[in-house]
Amino acid sequence: MRVGVLALQGAVSEHVSCLYKAMGKIGVPESEREIVEVRVKSDLEGLEGIVLPGGESTTLSLLMEEEGLFEAVSAVPKILGTCAGAILLAKEIIGAKNGQKSLGLMDISVVRNAYGRQLESFEERIGIVLDGKEGEINAVFIRAPVIGKVGEGVEVLASCRGEPVAVRQGKYIAATFHPELSGDTLLHEYFLRT
Ligand code: GLN
Repeated sequence: MRVGVLALQGAVSEHVSCLYKAMGKIGVPESEREIVEVRVKSDLEGLEGIVLPGGESTTLSLLMEEEGLFEAVSAVPKILGTCAGAILLAKEIIGAKNGQKSLGLMDISVVRNAYGRQLESFEERIGIVLDGKEGEINAVFIRAPVIGKVGEGVEVLASCRGEPVAVRQGKYIAATFHPELSGDTLLHEYFLRT
């Protein structure tokens, strides 16, 4: 199983170790676990999926453009975007800065840095429904966006404080929190299984 993590900026190594663990949990033998740090187009070859990590979406957009990665990343069969990565997946970004672009693959609208000042960062244990099964996950929000609008084909997997915080549309999953920081591999396992 060959999966990538966009490694231009942000929480890369945490996703790599989470994916490695998650592969183990879903029964992928150690010799078949391959995780690629993606920096240039050729790193995308043969990937089954890619994780777009949290970080700063404006910087990620700029660096992706410099490497000509927008189109190539869109061609990866499945994508998990977390925090800034979720912003990259959204069709609409409210509060976009410096001409930042998105892949626009998910019919969601995100509001950047939408939690109030004191709440810019917080951790909460939230319920999540994956494959019809209810679970719980520790969600770490760091200057997270809020998913303001979801289109018809978008399924809400988890909510927190009345807002959707993990959503799925076909082969794309967006989470506004950092699942890689809590030690829970639930969402990564789901991504790999999907
Ligand atoms: N505030 C960042 C942005 O808008 C996202 C923060 C994060 O990824 N933790 O790009």
